[in-house]
Amino acid sequence: MSSEARILIVEDEPELAAGIAENLAAEGYVPEVAPDGQAGLDAARRREHELVILDVMLPRKDGFAVCRQLRAEGNEVPVLFLTAKSDPRDRIRGFEDGADDYMSKPFHLAELLLRVAAILRRNRWYKRSTLDRPVIHFGGNEVDFRTYRGRSADGTEHELTHKEALILRLLAEREGEVVSRDEILDVVWGYEAFPSSRTIDNFILRLRRRFEQDPRAPRYFHTVHGVGYRFTSDDDDR
Ligand code: CA
Repeated sequence: MSSEARILIVEDEPELAAGIAENLAAEGYVPEVAPDGQAGLDAARRREHELVILDVMLPRKDGFAVCRQLRAEGNEVPVLFLTAKSDPRDRIRGFEDGADDYMSKPFHLAELLLRVAAILRRNRWYKRSTLDRPVIHFGGNEVDFRTYRGRSADGTEHELTHKEALILRLLAEREGEVVSRDEILDVVWGYEAFPSSRTIDNFILRLRRRFEQDPRAPRYFHTVHGVGYRFTSDDDDR
């Protein structure tokens, strides 16, 4: 597949926006620039993009509000946030679930390009894998990877975050096999493994709480001590 991905840049500093656009174009991507939050939202509604690079501090509508609105409208386009030092850390952390990645300003354009490539690669894998098997069933649970929605055996509806969906996708694709923590970091977080393996354990705990009848005695999300995790859909206890 070529790298001709359409990428939306929502950034109110004209020089930075132009610099990013120029570098993306040089890599063969198709950049589009929106100068404020509302314009960014309009652009994202108007046509499909493979990625949105979204500044947080923006006139008319901040980046968090734009992302929230897109998700509320069912737009699951990957988002890479650009954050300033003054942005509240707790809000950024809260948004890591809905974001694919974030970068703190100032940053090196070379690093931005690496992250963009990693996000696109990840998203293309997710789409391909989802086309192969859009819905999985295990026990009485059902997960639809197209909509990020799940339903557990007791009928509770769940909206999965991006990262939960990516982890579950990876485990389901490799059903019955042990998937190491390193592989999960590599696929779900990309080239730079900045979260600790503790982070992965927390995501697995969340999946268990959603889909296991007894999260302390998991039947689907098995821990393989010292290595990683193994997913089974047939309720086995190997
Ligand atoms: Ca800004």
